[in-house]
Amino acid sequence: MSDLDALFEAARTVRKRAYAPYSNFLVGAALRAPDGTVFTGCNVENASYPVSVCAEGGAVSAMIAAGYREIAEAVVVGDAALCTPCGVCRQRLKEFGTDDLIVHVADLNGIKRSFSMDELLPAAFELEHKKD
Ligand SMILES: [Zn+2]
Repeated sequence: MSDLDALFEAARTVRKRAYAPYSNFLVGAALRAPDGTVFTGCNVENASYPVSVCAEGGAVSAMIAAGYREIAEAVVVGDAALCTPCGVCRQRLKEFGTDDLIVHVADLNGIKRSFSMDELLPAAFELEHKKD
């Protein structure tokens, strides 16, 4: 199994643990750090909808809590034609993405498209000190 296949499987597996009783739209995300370590997250909804957290947000939090600061590759899995990260999550991924971060978007059967961060979030907002 390739590293990308493993990242896809990690995202597809964690997707099953999503808490999405309001939308019934389960999403899983898996992030690979430059050293190969993988972090996962799933969406967690709330009766107060804006409190909900996207899968990518959960994965980024897990990565940061583990002491990591860089994402080399990401996979987002949802049961949709093209489950691209929302605008907020594009900014989240940009904050920690390496310069050549690729975000793969998948349905339950496999990866459908792959995007560079510049494709997902051109002219992104950035501050010089963001990774310190
Ligand atoms: Zn999002």
